[in-house]
Amino acid sequence: MVLIASAPTFSHGVHPADQKARSATEPIGRMPFVREYSVPLRQHIGAASEPIVAVGDIVQRGQLIAKRASFVSTNQHAPVTGRVKAIETRPHPSGVSVRAIVIESDPFSSQQMGASGPRSDQALADSVSDAGIVGMGGAAFPAHVKLSVPEGRTVDTLLMNGCECEPYLTCDHRIMLEHPTAVLEGTAMIQTALGAKASVIGVEQNKSDAADVLRAASKGSVSVAQVAVKYPQGAEKMLIKAVLGREVPVGKLPLDVGVVVHNVGTAFAVHEAVRLGKPLIERVVTVSGPAVSQPRNLWVPIGTPICDLLAFVGLDQLDQYIVISGGPMMGQAQKNLQAPVVKGMSGILVFPAAHQATKEYPCIRCGRCLDACPMFLNPTRLWLLTRNRDIEALNQHHVQACFECGSCSYVCPSHIPLVHAIRMGKKLVREAQV
Ligand code: SF4
Ligand code: SF4
Repeated sequence: MVLIASAPTFSHGVHPADQKARSATEPIGRMPFVREYSVPLRQHIGAASEPIVAVGDIVQRGQLIAKRASFVSTNQHAPVTGRVKAIETRPHPSGVSVRAIVIESDPFSSQQMGASGPRSDQALADSVSDAGIVGMGGAAFPAHVKLSVPEGRTVDTLLMNGCECEPYLTCDHRIMLEHPTAVLEGTAMIQTALGAKASVIGVEQNKSDAADVLRAASKGSVSVAQVAVKYPQGAEKMLIKAVLGREVPVGKLPLDVGVVVHNVGTAFAVHEAVRLGKPLIERVVTVSGPAVSQPRNLWVPIGTPICDLLAFVGLDQLDQYIVISGGPMMGQAQKNLQAPVVKGMSGILVFPAAHQATKEYPCIRCGRCLDACPMFLNPTRLWLLTRNRDIEALNQHHVQACFECGSCSYVCPSHIPLVHAIRMGKKLVREAQV
């Protein structure tokens, strides 16, 4: 890896050890089918999907089983051929239980294709909506919404996010390396749908092999911008600053500066939906962490229980571990490992239980959290204001601008769980507005 000292980046941020070498060279494998799948009706931002199947129905892999309930919602499809066993409340990686369609797989079925043929006869936003695609970088925002530019607004640049700045995760890296043409074709489709003049793919320097592969495959049609390795560079506002040098003001959206950001994994899913007619029924998940002896990147059907995924990589006696979905900075600890893999889940990380929280000490006013915050907030002040439940001052200090990246908690020498407190502060402000 050749690092350019002056590679563009954003202000502030942190440099956690990236830990990506453990799985970066692992080609994407495939998780075998398991006995039962739980497809949550809420695995995206927006309204829950509405089931269109009933208990006892036989479903084919790729079949529509729940429809989006409003514009900001998504369709759900069967990840496996089998029988609808239940439609009931089931564990969800968010920690709350959510209504889900439970499918018992048919181990003897030969109908596991999941794709229905090319879909070039309709507008891209419709194909993407039909396929139930969400942003694959973790936020799980319905992708068709970001393909519909409001009237009177224009997009000059489509910025593709290939940063994957969270430690350990390598699923986007592998997709760029193994499927550059599909990523580029998906990017071109999105650019055309948005009417953008240009596309740029932002890739961090620790994935320079992926940047080279994309450059070679694109033959100059798309520019690939290498940015410094820094967290949270994959956040939309940070990536826009790093690659395009534009500031998105507090309370504004990338569209307000003429930009739309999509993830490279989303471009791949768009390509699959249009060229193959394949809905979003599986995704690449990185399974890694200190407790995983052989980290993997795997195609995993949506709805696969996390415990089955861990059993596949050789982990049992799961009460000995801390399991996190997503990356270690913004991911969520999993209490119930029956919870399924969902569309926005880029990784499952496993740590020995000895990695439990460290003792918290008083604030020593070192200012490191201020230097880390990419939104130029004052995390220690927000923490105190939350403790004092001072809603007016929380608003004055722009608590809602915090996007919970965890950089402040990461650098705090007193191990103060700043981001948890600030999350509470945001909730207090929201509740006060109702
Ligand atoms: S205050 Fe929010 S945005 Fe700033 S570093 Fe902490 S978690 Fe990130
Ligand atoms: S980093 Fe921690 S100890 Fe330092 S000022 Fe912020 S809250 Fe206080």
